[in-house]
Amino acid sequence: MRKKKIREFIVGNCGICNKEHRTTNGGWIINAEKKLFCHGFCFNLYVHNATIGRLTDIKRRNTYANGR
Ligand SMILES: [Zn+2]
Repeated sequence: MRKKKIREFIVGNCGICNKEHRTTNGGWIINAEKKLFCHGFCFNLYVHNATIGRLTDIKRRNTYANGR
């Protein structure tokens, strides 16, 4: 049986808290935009902020549409 050795390397830094993440540690997640976050708090924060950003955009568009 061959032993599979996992090579450790840095995958990147969290987009929220800037923590360094490595392949062997886990606990990180990469989104569709290839941005890296700590799995859990930082990723939730990012998703939350992204959702608010979208909602603000929709609200702005609606206000504009209603103003005519
Ligand atoms: Zn983080």
